[in-house]
Amino acid sequence: MNYDVAVVGAGMTGATLACALAKAGLRVAVIEASDPPPPPGDERQLRVSAISRASECVLRAIDVWDALPLERAGVFREMCVWDATGSGSVHFDSADIGSDALGHVVENDVIQRGLNTRMASLDTLKLYRPEELQDMQVEKSRVTLRLGGTRLHARLVVAADGSRSRVRELAGIQCDVGDYGQQAVVATVRTELWHRETAWQRFLPDGPLAFLPLPGNLCSIVWSTLPEHAQALLTATDESFAAAVEEAFESRLGGLEAVAGRGVFPLRHLHARAYIADRVALVGDAAHTVHPLAGQGANLGLQDAAALAEILYANWSRDRDLGRRMNLRPYERWRKGRNLLMQRGMSGFQWLFGSRLEPVRVARNLGLSMVDGSPPLKRMFMRYASGYGGERPRMAQARPWPE
Ligand SMILES: Cc1cc2nc3c(=O)[nH]c(=O)nc-3n(C[C@H](O)[C@H](O)[C@H](O)COP(=O)(O)OP(=O)(O)OC[C@H]3O[C@@H](n4cnc5c(N)ncnc54)[C@H](O)[C@@H]3O)c2cc1C
Repeated sequence: MNYDVAVVGAGMTGATLACALAKAGLRVAVIEASDPPPPPGDERQLRVSAISRASECVLRAIDVWDALPLERAGVFREMCVWDATGSGSVHFDSADIGSDALGHVVENDVIQRGLNTRMASLDTLKLYRPEELQDMQVEKSRVTLRLGGTRLHARLVVAADGSRSRVRELAGIQCDVGDYGQQAVVATVRTELWHRETAWQRFLPDGPLAFLPLPGNLCSIVWSTLPEHAQALLTATDESFAAAVEEAFESRLGGLEAVAGRGVFPLRHLHARAYIADRVALVGDAAHTVHPLAGQGANLGLQDAAALAEILYANWSRDRDLGRRMNLRPYERWRKGRNLLMQRGMSGFQWLFGSRLEPVRVARNLGLSMVDGSPPLKRMFMRYASGYGGERPRMAQARPWPE
């Protein structure tokens, strides 16, 4: 079987890329190791993502966003960030950049199901699931992929197979990896007071505690903290867990009640030294993983997918070899520096707010107050948080796809 592009991994990034390419007419194979998710139930899922306005545009361009059950999603119009060890704080309001919202908080499974439905509707897309990539061979004019009992050929293979990417490994692409020394505890809580459609983040010495608004009085929380503390939070009773979160959050939303299960995720950062090789391109977590403190991981992946789709479509329309390294270079130039900057920014923030040194504590509180008092700086931060900073792919600009 011959394809233009084989995408390994049908997570949010890989499925978005595959839909964009197949919608434009390319023949796409998608290889996904996991079983299809169970049919949707009423139960609220633990894992959510803060989806930026730019990512919303990408999902709309591939006809996914408007089909999502958005009554299950939260919206955040404002953001409030403050330091536990001082008086510094910043308040962002989407109205200041002429927007009605900064983004939505959507269950990962909801987005994933929307993408799966869209993949199934595209004639030029073939999904191999559950199938795991075993091996691949890069040849002069194609790449051959070996799954369980099947062989596929494509002009290009895209690694969308997450931070432990097998494609990246088989392509021999090195990466820089480090441990944040933290684990993220994820849970859903009911708050006594309404969250005011605001995303809240309190920087504690051991890591940030974020509240993301969901419909009604529900919030999804992500508490990044030391591994032993994370384990204690994970095994605490609902009552003592809620009490610990409420105390760490200074009761800003009144009393709390734990309403769903809890999960814990070890946090590490990773950045691939190259995003491309002969007949190989990396997107999403296969290329970079960042600290969840700014809720940017999936957003960066969706922007990678939109950028790569744009470049591949342009090459395909001109009958250029999709897998030639030279033809993939514009993608690497476009995304690598930008993602690295975001990752370093997150690591810098994490260090800055984790430091117990007095001069650093004073400086960060002054910094927060300075940003709060500077409308141009606040607008710049908000544009980046919304995915509007820098050169955006066409799909992220709400332009029709393909053009
Ligand atoms: C606690 C936490 C909170 C977060 N919050 C946010 C947020 O608010 N906003 C945000 O933007 N991001 C957030 N992120 C980051 C975000 O979840 C990830 O960046 C994103 O899910 C990565 O998507 P992906 O598709 O690139 O990779 P993955 O989701 O890892 O998908 C990879 C896919 O590849 C498949 N696969 C792997 N190996 C193979 C193989 N050999 N063959 C075939 N298939 C394979 C896997 O089954 C999987 O489906 C958060 C992360 C964490 C840990």
